[in-house]
Amino acid sequence: MRQYTYGPFQSRRLGLSLGVNVLLNYKLCTFNCVYCEIGLTDQENFVSPEFRIKLPPSPHFRKELISILKYVPHLNSITFGYNGEPTLNENLLDFLEVASDVRERLNWTNKRPILTLFTNSSTLYFKDIREKVREFELVLAKLDVATNDDFKRTNRPHSKSTNIEIIIESLTKLRQEMPRGHKLAIQSLIYNSYREDFIPNNNTINLNKLAQALKMIRPDFIQIYSTARIPAEYFVYSIDDERKREIVKELKLKINDDDIKINYY
Ligand code: SF4
Repeated sequence: MRQYTYGPFQSRRLGLSLGVNVLLNYKLCTFNCVYCEIGLTDQENFVSPEFRIKLPPSPHFRKELISILKYVPHLNSITFGYNGEPTLNENLLDFLEVASDVRERLNWTNKRPILTLFTNSSTLYFKDIREKVREFELVLAKLDVATNDDFKRTNRPHSKSTNIEIIIESLTKLRQEMPRGHKLAIQSLIYNSYREDFIPNNNTINLNKLAQALKMIRPDFIQIYSTARIPAEYFVYSIDDERKREIVKELKLKINDDDIKINYY
């Protein structure tokens, strides 16, 4: 029985990717994003960034990984982070250690799959969390907004969450602290709203501030994308490819840094 893994799925950003859930079988998150594709965050599982849970991997995790990975020697990424915010699990690095060890023992067609982490960035202001996160070879960190009004509307963070300036500062620190060869990608999901009384993050003030924030963070990659599945709120809908292209063009102009690769998906 599969307890920890999903896929592998073909992903536009990662190639062939095997998902790993380090949390329980329900969503546990510090955000309640309007566009979340796994639904609204239940009140009892909507937690502060200070919340921690201890969930070490059982011996079954290693067995499950091996049983799947031996059939996909062309895998591109082992990707941690489903069912919410993976950094809430104090045992996150124990999962990484097992995956890294399994990767060493198997044969791969081309390059070995990279060890990737998704995070919503809400816990990165804790130094010990950044120390764990920097161990992943590729960190995909969320930053959809750069004003506190947009933060509250779009990500709807837990009441004990820090503000968006602190999150941007933490991402800047993380980038500086990451070891050579490890990469940081900032993922910004931009969406529209059918409701006239609801301002989506696809607004000029937010996008201008986001450009300033990204210029400061200096990630290796900036990935602009939009909703692809059913969002948590009925009024959210995706921006089209033309708008994504415009946003990328604007960001390239404003950031003006050839070391940062900016793309849309
Ligand atoms: S951070 Fe991710 S899991 Fe949490 S509510 Fe937002 S989209 Fe959903």
